[in-house]
Amino acid sequence: MDQGVLSALRPPLRAPVEAALEGRRLSADQALALADARGAEHPALWAAAAVLRDRGRSPVVTYSRKVFIPLTNLCRDICSYCTFAHTDDDPRAHTMSPDEVLAVAEAGRQLGCKEALFTLGDRPEARFASHKAALRRFGHETTQSYLAAMCAMVLEKTGLLPHPNAGILGRRELSELREVSASQGMMLESVSERLCGPGGPHEHAPDKRPATRLAMIRRAGELRIPFTSGILIGIGETERERVEALLALRDLHDAHGHIQEVIVQNFRAKPNTPMAAAGEPGLVELMTTCAIARLVMGPAMSIQAPPNLSADYGPLLLSGINDWGGVSPLTPDFVNPEAPWPDIEGLRALCADAGYELRERLTIYPEYLADDDFIDPGVRPRVRALADEQGLARDVSPEPLVEVAA
Ligand code: SF4
Repeated sequence: MDQGVLSALRPPLRAPVEAALEGRRLSADQALALADARGAEHPALWAAAAVLRDRGRSPVVTYSRKVFIPLTNLCRDICSYCTFAHTDDDPRAHTMSPDEVLAVAEAGRQLGCKEALFTLGDRPEARFASHKAALRRFGHETTQSYLAAMCAMVLEKTGLLPHPNAGILGRRELSELREVSASQGMMLESVSERLCGPGGPHEHAPDKRPATRLAMIRRAGELRIPFTSGILIGIGETERERVEALLALRDLHDAHGHIQEVIVQNFRAKPNTPMAAAGEPGLVELMTTCAIARLVMGPAMSIQAPPNLSADYGPLLLSGINDWGGVSPLTPDFVNPEAPWPDIEGLRALCADAGYELRERLTIYPEYLADDDFIDPGVRPRVRALADEQGLARDVSPEPLVEVAA
């Protein structure tokens, strides 16, 4: 690497960057020192992270072609930045019926999608009697049981690979979902306890307690579930707390080997929320956090940044990321509905300009697909049917499988 770039770093930052480039694992103190980057140190970290990415991975940047299925937008928690969740007296509140779920999944399949991302609020039946009644109409007592049934239906009838993101789940619930999905996910978001205190964005969100989330990610590891997690930046945490969250994810991955990707997601302020006037992280801040994620997690980890949450997302490729996450040709980002997905061909051209081939991946990453321990035997044939010899998405020409309601 160009020594001129490294010379922009003060010694406390230069030592960890050199260690990472030599293939060494950063100590917690080394990693935390990176949180102090300022001025010209920012582009130096981006450059180092990009070099590390290129050493660990082929010149390929990936995305997953998906449909977004917001199974229910009811949630027992209240987060100050969220516009996804509604209370049951709001006309926008909705729990999808099986017919609605199948129609979206099938429409996505016909557009070549291979992932069905199920997103939903945390355990809404604990707060809303009306939701309990809706679940009973669908033949279920809990949201989790309904979710498992919907994953099974989508897998069976469309072949799309479910990726549930259902918040905090117990061991049995995770296990049941493992039998009908290819991977699962939940953002760690932050390890800052302060954010759960009075006035914090998670004050009224018991499921956002860091210890609760870390325990759930650990359970997923014990159950050998390929798992997607990440951090949300700009909700009141400090730069050091961001690095602490990355270190916590690294510890869990070291113990269980199950974290297949780490997302660095930037907070976007939304109208009509308590955080509507809060400042958003800028591109430099986002890129530096992506770079630190790469330096902390190492060359082999997939580091993802969503392309639809930055007006100018191309520069993110300079900061060590290798994945854009899910991109849908059909459904909006229901968590950030104001942020449209980029056009996939535009994304391909942008990657090519930067020297990378854009490739479609499955929701489960190739290294987990290759390890039978990480896939339920009932799901394995479905996953393999969609994978090419490298474990990325096979080019399939969709044929109609089911009738879709007009
Ligand atoms: S837990 Fe998720 S869905 Fe529920 S309020 Fe918080 S961000 Fe929204």
